[in-house]
Amino acid sequence: MSDVLPTGTSAASTPVPFINLQAQHAAIRDEVLEAVERVFESQAFVLGDEVSEFECDIAEYCDSREAIGCASGSDALLLSLMGLEIGPGDEVITSPFTFFATAGAICRTGATPVFVDIRPDTYNINTALIEAAVTSKTRAIMPVHLFGQCADMDPIWRIATRHGIAVIEDACQAIGATYNGRRAGVLGRTGCFSFFPTKNLGGAGDGGLITTDDSELAGRLRRLRVHGDLGGYSHQEMGFNSRLDALQAAVLKVKLAHLEDWTEARRDNAELYNELFADYDLLDAVTLPVEMSDRRHVFNQFTIRVHDGRRDELLQKMRHAELGCAIYYPTPLHLQQCFKGLGYSAGQMPESEKAGAEVLSLPIFAELTDSQQEQIVRGIAASLGRSVVPRRSIVSFELPESKAA
Ligand SMILES: *Cc1c(COP(=O)(O)O)cnc(C)c1O
Repeated sequence: MSDVLPTGTSAASTPVPFINLQAQHAAIRDEVLEAVERVFESQAFVLGDEVSEFECDIAEYCDSREAIGCASGSDALLLSLMGLEIGPGDEVITSPFTFFATAGAICRTGATPVFVDIRPDTYNINTALIEAAVTSKTRAIMPVHLFGQCADMDPIWRIATRHGIAVIEDACQAIGATYNGRRAGVLGRTGCFSFFPTKNLGGAGDGGLITTDDSELAGRLRRLRVHGDLGGYSHQEMGFNSRLDALQAAVLKVKLAHLEDWTEARRDNAELYNELFADYDLLDAVTLPVEMSDRRHVFNQFTIRVHDGRRDELLQKMRHAELGCAIYYPTPLHLQQCFKGLGYSAGQMPESEKAGAEVLSLPIFAELTDSQQEQIVRGIAASLGRSVVPRRSIVSFELPESKAA
C-alpha cells in the first residue's frame, strides 16, 4: 500500500484502500512519538500512571464513573462476565451477527451463548425476540452496537430489569456512539471497548477497556486483570493476566483528543456516500445504512446491502479494480463449526444469514477523500453494469450552458 494517497480528480484505475492508517498517523506523528518517548524514558511499561490517566480520560469521554484498561476488547468482555460471576450453567443472550469474540468470551467462562436474530435495518439484536429466549438460566444480555450504532437499549433494559439480569454492552465498534444522548459504555452494567488498530480509537497493537458506574464491580475488575491479586500476592479469587500497556495508553490518550474530529469526518463521509448513491441512481441496487433518530452512528463500518444476490460478484469486481471493500461478517456465529455443539442449524437466524450473504463494507476512514468516495461508488455502478455518469454531473454540466444561452 502506498502511503501517499491520490488526491483530486483521479482516474478510475487508481486504487482506493479499505483503510489507511498511515494517513491518520501522518497527521499526529509528533504527538504520538513524544508520548512513546516519554514511556521509554520512564521504562514503566505496564499499567501505572499512563494507564490511570487514560482511564480517567475515557471515563470522562463516556461519562462513566469508572474505566478499567485491559489487554483487548475480547478480554473486556471476558472480564465483565467474570466480574458478574457468570460461568458454567449460565446463559447469555447475544447476537449471532458480530465478531467472533462476543460469543467466544461467553463460552470461555463456561456459560452458553443464546443467539437471538438481528433486525434487518440496523443489523443489531432484534429486541422483540429477546423475551422468548429468556430462561431461568439467563444471567445477562450482551447486545453488540454493530458497525458503530447502538442497539435499541430501552427494550433491553426493560427485559433485563423484569428478569433481574445484567446488560453487558459489546461497544467495541461504537466508542462515541450515543443512544438518546448517552454514550455507549454507560448503557449497561459494563461497556466493553477494543482499541484494535482498525477500531475508531485504535492503538499501536492490542488493547481494551471496560466502563462501569459500579465502583465495587470496578474494584473487582481491577483485581481480575491482575490474576485476582488483592495486593501483596494475596488471591481471593482467580483472574488472569489482562493488563493494558503504558505504551498503548500513552498513544491512545493522544488519539482520544482527536476522536471527535475523526468521528465527525466518518459521519461526513457517510453523508457523502448517501448523496453519491443517489446521484449514481443506485438506490434500487443497494440498501444504505440507516441511522436511527435517537442515535449517533459512529460508522466503524459503512455497510451496504447488495440486492439480487450480486454481493460476491460485486466484491470480486471491486477487488479486481483495487477498490477496497470487505465483508463483515460472512458467516453468522450460530453456523460456525466450533459452535456446532450449541445445536443451531441453517435457517434458524434468517436475518443474520441473509445479512451474511448480502453485506459489503466500504472505506469510511476519516482521511478518505471525496474523489476516492466517488471512485468507490462509480466502481460499484460499473461493476453492476449501471451508468457511471452521475445525475449531478449532468446537472452541473448543463447549468453553465443554459446560463450562457
Ligand atoms: C473488535 C471486536 C471485539 C474484540 O476486540 P479485540 O480487541 O480484537 O479483542 C469484540 N466485539 C466486537 C463487536 C468487535 O468488533
